[in-house]
Amino acid sequence: MADLLLDDRGVILTCPNCEQRNRVLYERLSDPVRCGKCKRELSSPASPVEIVTAGDFDRLVANASIPVVVDYWAPWCGPCRMVAPELQKVAARRAGRILVVKVNTEALPDLGQRFNVRSIPMLAVFAQGREVARTVGARPASDIEAFIDQAIHAHR
Ligand SMILES: [Zn+2]
Repeated sequence: MADLLLDDRGVILTCPNCEQRNRVLYERLSDPVRCGKCKRELSSPASPVEIVTAGDFDRLVANASIPVVVDYWAPWCGPCRMVAPELQKVAARRAGRILVVKVNTEALPDLGQRFNVRSIPMLAVFAQGREVARTVGARPASDIEAFIDQAIHAHR
């Protein structure tokens, strides 16, 4: 699968058939998507997406039609490396129902500061524009899914 990218309006999916880049707007993340060029149906984002700017992050959490799970990490953090493959599994299993993003707190210190991230790895769930739950520490995919389910359920 091609690397996922994201900009201030949506997630960019590269069509595996014709390589056309298609933007899926944040407010339509839960809808089925067809390639604008060859009309082939595209699969929902099934991998964590790295956040590049704080502005993209803000637009995403404000507009996303599905819950956003944020992994705050840093290159020097050993336990963060253990979380990465577990989050990959979660993103694949929940494709189309949640969007998993990664925030490098070293590259984006303003986000870490704004959300008061004191220790990493930290996972947070955003729904309808606001943070509804957070948890610190590495854990297996099944525990991450239980945490997400509880966060979303409690929010409804
Ligand atoms: Zn295509």
